[in-house]
Amino acid sequence: MPKGILVVLEQYNGELRKVSLELLSEGRRLADMAGLDLTGVLLGQGVKDLAPVAASYGADKVVVVDDAALKDYTTGAYTSVLNRVIRDEDPEVVVMGNTGIGRDLAPRLAQRLGVGCASDCVAVAVDSNYKLRFKRPIYAGKAYAEMATEARPILATIRPNSFSVAAPNSDRQAEVVEVAASIDAADLKAIVKEVIRQASSRPELTDANVIVSGGRAMKNSENFKILEDLADAIGAAVGASRAAVDSGYREYKFQVGQTGKTVSPTLYIACGISGAIQHLAGMGSSKVIVAINKDPEANIFTVADYGIVGDLFEIVPLLTEEFKKQLA
Ligand code: FAD
Repeated sequence: MPKGILVVLEQYNGELRKVSLELLSEGRRLADMAGLDLTGVLLGQGVKDLAPVAASYGADKVVVVDDAALKDYTTGAYTSVLNRVIRDEDPEVVVMGNTGIGRDLAPRLAQRLGVGCASDCVAVAVDSNYKLRFKRPIYAGKAYAEMATEARPILATIRPNSFSVAAPNSDRQAEVVEVAASIDAADLKAIVKEVIRQASSRPELTDANVIVSGGRAMKNSENFKILEDLADAIGAAVGASRAAVDSGYREYKFQVGQTGKTVSPTLYIACGISGAIQHLAGMGSSKVIVAINKDPEANIFTVADYGIVGDLFEIVPLLTEEFKKQLA
């Protein structure tokens, strides 16, 4: 079999995460262009049923490592197993989501394999030699760098929402190979005893297609209710600027920006956010940006596709009403 592209798949609550579907969809397109095979790797417990799903999104082969020790993510166990799978599969390229897990795994795997790692990439191209080149933002999103390496495989983490998800084809079949975990005891430095998940009906910030974010102008945590109402009307996640987080209006896990989360939704609605470079670093690759700010000179308007100059406390409830009417 020709060597190809290997996608490290992430699953959550028995479903493949959206970023994994994006990587399979784009991986299929690139594999076809470069004449490569597409392999998905599934780690976890009771995950074999997800192999046909990976096939329907384009995988030619799915490597399944099903073991109780992989039920919850741990750095040591996942690094150990993936290091072995990658060496056995010998792909040209290994890609994973630029998620908490991907950011933790990729540099460790690169070190063990002795190869380079392109992190937080937003685009991939095939060059004239049929080699993949990865594009990533640098200088807080002010410029882009293209990365390629001679050493194989090249490892890359891809920002969620960088690629669209193709329509699944349930007729597609993949070769499913089950591999024993055989984790080296020395690699099990941490054992997860319990995972406590916070219940929320809103999408996770980095997966969300639409995000409504609030800044210092929200004045307090209670006022975020108007952003939550808007978010719930359109199925969005709620984010915040660092000023809002530092002021205690929102927890740190909701911070968007250079020292917070990097997001790339289809629609980002910035409410009372000035548009500091560190905020733009985390959301500048959003497909459509809407800014609501009472200062017409605010920097956020330099990146916004649509700008509303005015008081967010008047505009946001009007938007919510209108969306509710339109979506009723
Ligand atoms: P402000 O800059 O104070 O802007 C508030 C805006 O609200 C103003 O534009 C104002 O016109 C508008 N406004 C006020 N009242 C209303 C109203 N009623 N209706 C409409 N508009 C109104 N920031 C981040 O966001 N994320 C990061 O990850 C991050 N990392 C950083 C890392 C470093 C190393 C440093 C130095 C800074 C970082 N910052 C980050 C901070 C960043 O520089 C800004 O201070 C911060 O983004 C400002 O947040 P803000 O836009 O909410 O507040």
